[in-house]
Amino acid sequence: MRPLAEHHCAVCSQSLDAPDATCRNKICRWSPERRCFTRVDALALFAHPLEQPIKRFKYDGRKGWSKVFGRLIVGWLEEHRRQVADIDLIIGNPTAPDRVPLQHIETIMESAYTEDTLDQWPIADPDSPVLTKKYETKKSASGGAQWADKLQAAEEHAKALRFHRSVEGKRILLIDDVFTTGATFHTVGKRLIAEGKATEVRGLVLARVPFGS
Ligand SMILES: [Zn+2]
Repeated sequence: MRPLAEHHCAVCSQSLDAPDATCRNKICRWSPERRCFTRVDALALFAHPLEQPIKRFKYDGRKGWSKVFGRLIVGWLEEHRRQVADIDLIIGNPTAPDRVPLQHIETIMESAYTEDTLDQWPIADPDSPVLTKKYETKKSASGGAQWADKLQAAEEHAKALRFHRSVEGKRILLIDDVFTTGATFHTVGKRLIAEGKATEVRGLVLARVPFGS
């Protein structure tokens, strides 16, 4: 797999031209007190070879890819063992029950849970979810969507989530397929921290979409 660029943002993994360059992503420049997630790591930049598989899986329902993604996630956890040693709970960013063609994040998390055969990681049991999404919410327009639109869509998404179990005092690793602006990690993180009283929310995504693409 193509590695991340040599220099990348400490918050969002966006590649940077120089180690001291400022990330163009607005949310990374927020103070740590304001931003409701600490950092988000990415398995890869949204570039060959992950772009097509993610799209085929997410939009065409090629379910077989979920096994690969689940394996990649568990592989990443193993490679970053020290970095995630303090994580208490690993959950996916929920999708709506009627999502077509499939609830892609739940499917990936189920694969990751199955892949973790030695039960080494605190991946939430798919049969006993921590967080679910009650109904579908509108997506922000892709591409040229303004930050305000993205934040609004992310807020509506977070509002549609329902807690099934306590997350109080937990350090959570929230998994999603792609990261663009971080608005979703912020709004979901806000509910987990403000309402759920989680201690910290960190993120892991399959791919980081280069800003502006
Ligand atoms: Zn950044």
